[in-house]
Amino acid sequence: MSVSSKEGLLHRLKRIIIGPLISFFTVTKYVFVKRPTIEYPTKTIIFPDRFRGVLEVDDELCIGCGICAKVCPNTCIFMVPYEKGKPAMIPEIDLQHCMFCGLCVDYCPPQAIYHTHVVSIIGFKREDLYLDQKKVTRVQELEYK
Ligand code: SF4
Ligand code: SF4
Repeated sequence: MSVSSKEGLLHRLKRIIIGPLISFFTVTKYVFVKRPTIEYPTKTIIFPDRFRGVLEVDDELCIGCGICAKVCPNTCIFMVPYEKGKPAMIPEIDLQHCMFCGLCVDYCPPQAIYHTHVVSIIGFKREDLYLDQKKVTRVQELEYK
């Protein structure tokens, strides 16, 4: 057998044996690594403080200025007369179009609108994803959790 054919054989053997061995060890090491996923919804993770979940409005802080609605890039905030009377106007949010950018939160003067850690936005109808004034002030209490 010539030298070049020996080298070719060696090269092929390396490909046949070493290649699968590398693949095997690459895959099997993940058997012993902690899984990054969880069995939601039976288990939940603790989100970082700055996590951007579903928005909520504190009607005791809101002054009804409407800045949140003006800065929203997706125009999914609508100012409506507040049934409780104070503030006179309150934001309602259409979650179908919210991209959780946080601009409304950043621009709110009294920090009355904020992201919660609520992530499950469940609905059977499009209207279920509209946070009217009754829902938008109680997001954390509702079944959106
Ligand atoms: S998070 Fe962004 S897209 Fe959603 S309501 Fe606020 S400004 Fe609009
Ligand atoms: S949530 Fe903030 S920005 Fe929006 S109307 Fe109320 S006070 Fe103004």
